[in-house]
Amino acid sequence: MKTKLRGPAIATVLRRIFRRTPNPYNAVMQSPYCKNLSESMTWVVLFVVMAWFFAIGAALHAAEPQATGFDGQRSYGYLKALCALGNRMSGSHGMKQQQVLLVKHFTDLNAKVTFQRFKVKHPLKSSRRVPMTNLIVEWRPEAKERILLCAHYDTRPLPDQEINPRIRKNGVFLGANDGASGVALLMELGHHVAQLPLNYGLDFVLFDGEELVYFDFNRREDIGPYFLGSTWFASQYRKHPPQHKYVAGVLFDMVADADLTLYQEENSATWKQTRPLVKEIWGTAQRLGVQEFIPRIKYNVSDDHFPLNRIAKIPVIDIIDFAYPEYPRNRYWHTLADAPGRCSGDSLGKVGTVIVEWLSTKR
Ligand SMILES: [Zn+2]
Repeated sequence: MKTKLRGPAIATVLRRIFRRTPNPYNAVMQSPYCKNLSESMTWVVLFVVMAWFFAIGAALHAAEPQATGFDGQRSYGYLKALCALGNRMSGSHGMKQQQVLLVKHFTDLNAKVTFQRFKVKHPLKSSRRVPMTNLIVEWRPEAKERILLCAHYDTRPLPDQEINPRIRKNGVFLGANDGASGVALLMELGHHVAQLPLNYGLDFVLFDGEELVYFDFNRREDIGPYFLGSTWFASQYRKHPPQHKYVAGVLFDMVADADLTLYQEENSATWKQTRPLVKEIWGTAQRLGVQEFIPRIKYNVSDDHFPLNRIAKIPVIDIIDFAYPEYPRNRYWHTLADAPGRCSGDSLGKVGTVIVEWLSTKR
C-alpha cells in the first residue's frame, strides 16, 4: 500500500512546524558567535572543510590493509606454479625442480641464496639415504641482528588421510596449503623487502624434511620423524653460533585456505619468549582490520617452531590455520583435496599484508 500527501496538506504541515520551531538561519545569525552573514558563512565553510578532512582520513585508514602493496593474487600464482611441479617430498624430482625455481626467483630479486645440506636415513628403507636441503635466502646479510621468516617446502610423501586405501598408496599429494602456501607467501614478500623501513637483517629459511613421514594403517602410527630440516638448522645455530643473532621469527604453515581462520597456536601464545610476538602480530592485524586473525587460542600444534625455540632458543611463533576446514575434522588435510582450488590469493594477501605492516613497525 502507498500513501500520498497532497500539495495543500504539505504546505499546512510545514507552516505548523515552522510556527513552533525557530528558523535555523535566524538562530545562527542571532547567536553571539555570528554577528553578521559573512561571519556565519566562514563558520559553515570551516565546518565543511573539517568534515571533508575527517572523511578523507577515515577513507585512508580503511584502505590501510591494501597500502602495503603485498599482492595476494601474484602470491597465489606462485602457489599454483609450485603445485604444478607435482609432489615435492624430500629427495624427489619435484623437490629438485622446486629448488631451481626458488633459487632463480630469489636471486633475481637480489637476495643471497645458500643451501644447507645434510642426509638422513629413509624412514622405510634404512639402507637408503635421503639428501636434505634447507634453502636460506638472506636480505641485508651484513646486519648482525636478524629476523627469521620460515616455512617448510617439502610435502608429505602421500595423501594418507584419504579414505580409499588405493589413493592412500598411489595418490599424488600436492600440498597446496600444507607445503606451498608458506613458500608462496615468502616468494611474494621478496618483492617488498627492499622498500621495508627495517633496521634488521631478514632471512627466509625454507625447511626440508618437515614431514618425511608415512602412516602405518595397521598400527595406526606415523613412521619417520618430523622437523628434520628445522632440527638441523637449529642444531647448527647452537653448535656453531654465527656472527648474527635472530631476535624474532615467524613460521608460516597452511596460510592459504580459502576459508581462512587464524587462531593463535597454544605454544606460541604461552611460551614466555614468544608470547609478546603473538601479541604484536595479532595486534597488528586488529589495527589493520584483518579479522581472520582471531585473538584466541584454539589448537596446540607441534611444528618447525619447536626445534627453533627449544634447541636454538630463537623466539619463533607459528602462524597456522589448522582448521582446513572445520577443525577438528580438517577435511582437506593430507588428502588430494589439498590443491590450489581450496586456497585463495585473498587469504595469502591478508597474511602478507599483516606481516609487511608488522615488519615496518619492527625498528
Ligand atoms: Zn602436513
